[in-house]
Amino acid sequence: MVKRDPAQGIRDVQHFGEEGGVVPVIDHAVTSTFLKPDDMERVFRGELTGCYLYSRHSNPTVMAFGKKLAAMEGMPAAFGVASGMAAIHSAVMQIMLGGGHMVSSRTIYGGTWALFQNILPKFSVQTTFVDPQNLQEWEAAIRPDTRLLYVETLSNPLLGAADLKALGVLAKKHGLQFVVDNTFTPVLISPAEFGADVVVYSCTKYISGSSDLIAGAIVGSEEFIAGLMDVNQGLVMLQGPVMDPRVAYELYSRLDHLPLRMRAHSEAAQILAERLTQEGVLNLSYPGLSNHPQHSLLQSMLNKGYGFGGMLTLDLGSLEKALHLARRLQEEKFGLFAVSLGFTRTLMSCPSASTSSEIPVEEQLQMGLTPGLLRLSIGLVGDPHVMADRFIRCYREIESI
Ligand code: PLP
Repeated sequence: MVKRDPAQGIRDVQHFGEEGGVVPVIDHAVTSTFLKPDDMERVFRGELTGCYLYSRHSNPTVMAFGKKLAAMEGMPAAFGVASGMAAIHSAVMQIMLGGGHMVSSRTIYGGTWALFQNILPKFSVQTTFVDPQNLQEWEAAIRPDTRLLYVETLSNPLLGAADLKALGVLAKKHGLQFVVDNTFTPVLISPAEFGADVVVYSCTKYISGSSDLIAGAIVGSEEFIAGLMDVNQGLVMLQGPVMDPRVAYELYSRLDHLPLRMRAHSEAAQILAERLTQEGVLNLSYPGLSNHPQHSLLQSMLNKGYGFGGMLTLDLGSLEKALHLARRLQEEKFGLFAVSLGFTRTLMSCPSASTSSEIPVEEQLQMGLTPGLLRLSIGLVGDPHVMADRFIRCYREIESI
């Protein structure tokens, strides 16, 4: 079967601006005029759909971004929201309204873990966390009141790849909704191909690419996305974490070069990972290396030509050593010590002491997250070989400590 190319999906969406402009206008209007006043009541009653009403319900620029993202993803519809957390919370709770049980991978972003562990139980939603690689554990955790399976395609921060196909089959077998956070692998992997019902993104990361805005998106069926905007039952409409049209315009434009950027991130990370391997750097994890435990699985899921992504980890054995290396790398202008990822420049952080610190230490160790783990989001600016030279020089210095 010929794989669908997400870049072509993006290419085939075109919104004209006023007077045929090559880009859409930013529609700032908070509220829209009804030329036939009787229609307003019909919209509120749910009898008339597809109308612009009020910007918390729908906005033309946000809808244009959603259309382009959905085309990239190969799914029917998408909706922009205020952050990645807003996307996860709204999508999960729209399915879990009324309470019940869900099964989630244990190795997920710390904020998502804390949402599922600390907040959702207060809304009668219980989560069982499982080893993402152990299918028996997933199936054994399913209960009569389970409604949803949740996973990150490539996990934050451990870079374990989920077997989306097997999980998609499991979800269908038990009549569950399958929600996938694809934040680390936009364009590289299209989770809908493997049975995902809903895909969520932190657009703050690769989709923005510039670390200058916070945003999220939910991709799914027409019905699911319309449900989020329902005036009586929609969690985005009623909780209100909507995307600003100015942000939607930025993301709409940036989607055009997302495939090129993903390819460049992957190339730079692959070069660094191979150079470090040749230099005998130990405890390096990169999905594009054949020693990555899910290298072949990933190969079977990847869209052609975009590589294995820009994320790489290195275990230095202790937090002190990891921080020391990060400091030297920052001094040598290899990267910036900052949380987040998907930026044009390399970003480095120690997840156990930052973005995964919400997860108790025992749980961190259970999932294999050690204090000395340094997470690198490899940037696309500069010659990757020069960057690799800098890295190796700093690594050799701290080896002797
Ligand atoms: N999902 C993943 C995998 C993340 O890494 C993050 C943030 O780091 C989020 C979701 C949350 O995104 P945001 O910061 O845009 O709310």
